[in-house]
Amino acid sequence: MRSVGREPIFVAAGEGAQLVDVDGNRYVDYVSSWGPLILGHAHPEVVAAVKAAAERGTSFGAPTEAEIDLAAEVVARVPGAEMVRLVSSGTEAAMTAVRLARAVTGRDRIVKFAGAYHGHVDGLLADAGSGLATQGIPSSPGITPAQARDTIVVPWNDFDRLEAALARDGGKPAAILAEPLPANMGLVPPVEGFLDALRAACDRTGALLVLDEVISGFRVARGGAQERLGVRGDLLVLGKVLGGGLPLAAVAGPRALMEQLAPAGETYQAGTLSGNPLATAAGLATLARLDPAAYERLDRTTTALAAGLAARAEGAGVPVQVPHVCGLLTVFFSNAPVRDYDGARGADGAAFARFHAGMLERGVYLPPSPYEAWFPSLAHGPDELDRTLQAAEEAFEEAGR
Ligand code: PMP
Repeated sequence: MRSVGREPIFVAAGEGAQLVDVDGNRYVDYVSSWGPLILGHAHPEVVAAVKAAAERGTSFGAPTEAEIDLAAEVVARVPGAEMVRLVSSGTEAAMTAVRLARAVTGRDRIVKFAGAYHGHVDGLLADAGSGLATQGIPSSPGITPAQARDTIVVPWNDFDRLEAALARDGGKPAAILAEPLPANMGLVPPVEGFLDALRAACDRTGALLVLDEVISGFRVARGGAQERLGVRGDLLVLGKVLGGGLPLAAVAGPRALMEQLAPAGETYQAGTLSGNPLATAAGLATLARLDPAAYERLDRTTTALAAGLAARAEGAGVPVQVPHVCGLLTVFFSNAPVRDYDGARGADGAAFARFHAGMLERGVYLPPSPYEAWFPSLAHGPDELDRTLQAAEEAFEEAGR
C-alpha cells in the first residue's frame, strides 16, 4: 500500500467477492488472495471440505488418497502432466522445476524474462516483477554473484534479444523459464508467435521450456495457458488456484522427467507439509467447481469488466490500456499497448495511485500496485461489477487530474 500512498486495510473476513475490514468497511475485492480464490472467499464447499479434513487430522507425513486424487485432477486437466509433485508454495515449485531442469540437461543457466516473477528463489530475483517491481528493487541483496551469473534476463516479447541471449550462452541453457501469460508486471500477454519462438528455441537448443502457470493455471482455462494459447511446456509450475486458498503448489511433467525427482531419482526435493490434507481438500473442492461453464462465466465477467473500465476511462478522457484474459485484468495508465517490463514501468504510476485511492474510498479494493493483475472471480456477479464500474467512473476522473 505504500506504493499508492495508503495505510494497509486490515481484513476481518471475506465473503464471496467481498472483503470486510476490521472497521466494518466492505470492499469488492480484486486481489482474491493474489489469485487462489477463483471461487471467492469462504466458499461453502471449500470450507466444508477443509473442516472435514481437519477433523481427520491436519498432517501425517505419510501418503493420503487426496494427494493422489488431486494429482489425478492435474493430469486430467493440464496438457503434458503425467506425474505431479506437490509442494507448499509457488516458490518451492519453481525452485524444484529449475533444479530438475538443470539435473536432466546437465547445464546451469536459466533464461528468464524481465518483469516475470517466479517466487523468491535466489537466482530468479533478477529484474523480477511483483513486489520487487512495486518497491523498485532491481535485484535483491543477499544473492551471490555466482547465483546471479546463472540467470540470463531477456525482455519479454523481444525475439531478437532472446536469440542474442541464446547465442551468447553458446546456445545451451538448461531452461527457458516463462510465465506464458506474464501477470507480475501487470498482465502483458505474449505477442503473436512469441511462445512458439520459445518452444522452437528449446527444441533447437535442448533446453527445457518451463512454464510457470502459478497464476494462469486453472484460471485462464481448464488446462491453463497451455490450453488457451496452444503452447506446450516440458515442465509445468502450478500453484494458487490448485490449493484453493491453502498452501499448495506443484511441479508437473512427463514421467521420464518427473521420475528423476527423489525418491524415484536422485534430484532431491522434500517438504514436511507438502500435500497436506487441508490443502488437498481445498484444492479438490475448488477444482470440482471448475467445469467448462465456470470458465465461460469467468470469461464473460472479465470481458464485461474490461470493456466497462475502458469505456469509463474514455469517458473521463484518461488514456488506458486494459489487457485481459479469462480471470485476469490490468489497467495500464498508458497511451500505447504495453508489451514488456519497460512499457509497464513507463505507465503513469501517479495516476494509478490516484485511481486506486478513488476506488478504495468507494469500496473497491484493487491490487495496490500497478504491477499486479486484478483477479476477478466466479463470485463477482452483476452487483459487484456495477459497484466497480460506478466507482471507476469517478475514480478515473480523479486519476486524470
Ligand atoms: N510464480 C508466479 C507466476 C507467481 O505469480 C508467484 C506468486 N505470485 C509465484 C511463482 C510464487 O508463488 P508463492 O508466492 O506461492 O511462493
